[in-house]
Amino acid sequence: MKNIKTKNSLFGKMLQITLIPIFLLALVIISFSAHSFANALNNEVKRGLMDLSSTILTLYDQLYPGDYQSFIQDDALYMLKGEHQINGDFSIIDTIKENTGVDITFFYHDTRVITTLYDKNGERIIGTKVNAVVTKDVLENQKAAFYPEVSIDGQDYYAYYAPLVNQDGNCVGMLFVAKPTKSVYLSMWKSILPIIFLGIAAMIIAGAFTVRFSHNLMQAITKIGEFLGKVAKGDLSESLDYNVSKREDELGALGRHAVYMQKSLSELVEKDGLTGLFNRRSGEKKLKQVHRDKQDGNSEFCIALGDIDFFKKINDTYGHECGDVVLVRLAHIMRKHMIGKGFVSRWGGEEFLLIFTECLLEDAKMILEEIMQEIRESDIVYEENTKVRVTMTFGICQGSTDSVDAILREADSKLYIGKNSGRNQIVQ
Ligand code: GH3
Ligand code: MG
Ligand code: MG
Repeated sequence: MKNIKTKNSLFGKMLQITLIPIFLLALVIISFSAHSFANALNNEVKRGLMDLSSTILTLYDQLYPGDYQSFIQDDALYMLKGEHQINGDFSIIDTIKENTGVDITFFYHDTRVITTLYDKNGERIIGTKVNAVVTKDVLENQKAAFYPEVSIDGQDYYAYYAPLVNQDGNCVGMLFVAKPTKSVYLSMWKSILPIIFLGIAAMIIAGAFTVRFSHNLMQAITKIGEFLGKVAKGDLSESLDYNVSKREDELGALGRHAVYMQKSLSELVEKDGLTGLFNRRSGEKKLKQVHRDKQDGNSEFCIALGDIDFFKKINDTYGHECGDVVLVRLAHIMRKHMIGKGFVSRWGGEEFLLIFTECLLEDAKMILEEIMQEIRESDIVYEENTKVRVTMTFGICQGSTDSVDAILREADSKLYIGKNSGRNQIVQ
């Protein structure tokens, strides 16, 4: 019988149905949390800029109470807050920039009046105008607004524009507070990266555990499969890997069931149904095995063929069932004495083959004497009032490198001599 090959591997399928969902789930979690985190950071930056803008406006109101106004003199634009001329006075906005890193600009209408921004030549960007979108949104609609990428002199800013509204409700200009877009995005990335790394690490760890678990499972399944394959081929001596049979899960139970099945099969195939001894077939197999060992020069062995004396008479006197009870009882006695010494098999009806492994004739004979003795002295009880006593005759010989048949013939001829010279004895 050939090994049963499978077309599709369970392992591959298990990886597919576990790794792909893990990967997708991790992807969803990473992108969702990164997105939420970025949003939160974005809002925080916005709130920071809004707070700063209202702080600046309050500060100017407290320092220089009154409205924002302007006038032109000698082609120059002058801007006042109350009585104070604020164009040309950079001290407040420069100090705030120094402490917060945020750039500040005051506009009169759409024109920059004072600012912390410098152009490439190192000059403050004053007198330039804001773009049309901001003019419309903030100046005309009188509404504060955010812009994530406002380009000023080639540099992008994350900017907040707040309208400057006088007491009469007129919007006269704007306050601009902003951070370079690049630095905002960089700090966002710095905060989000650990989340992404953590997500990827969790995915790798979960994946590794899944692969390990699946591999482990497949190994156990493969081993059970190989074990069952050998049992199917008739090899009943194979043992299942301990790592599988010791498992406490369903696969361990499956493995143990396979072992029980193997044991039951070997009982059926190798054992005699009545006595539980090895049957003739496995007796022959074991004899061939020890004979091979002897031929390899590994160990000595002896065999004995035994036959119950006048067994027919027991059957005739007490019935066949009583004969069976005697057979079972004698089998029990022989097996008990042979534990660790060799094997007993039921060779025929009331004949037994005893194989003494790693044993010389004298020692084998001693064991046999003990068996004979116990048999002679045993009252075998059949039903309440029937007690039977039997004897056995044995022919025993040392195993040699001669053929198995020759060795069996020798033991049998000795048994025959024993039967013809008074029975109840061992002939060597
Ligand atoms: P000997 O001392 O010469 O061996 O005499 P014996 O009566 O034991 O020998 P014989 O060969 O004449 O008889 C063996 C009997 O064993 C015959 C058969 O009915 C009986 N026998 C064989 N197998 C079984 C069995 O499984 N159960 C029972 N009860 N009897 C069996
Ligand atoms: Mg016989
Ligand atoms: Mg007999």
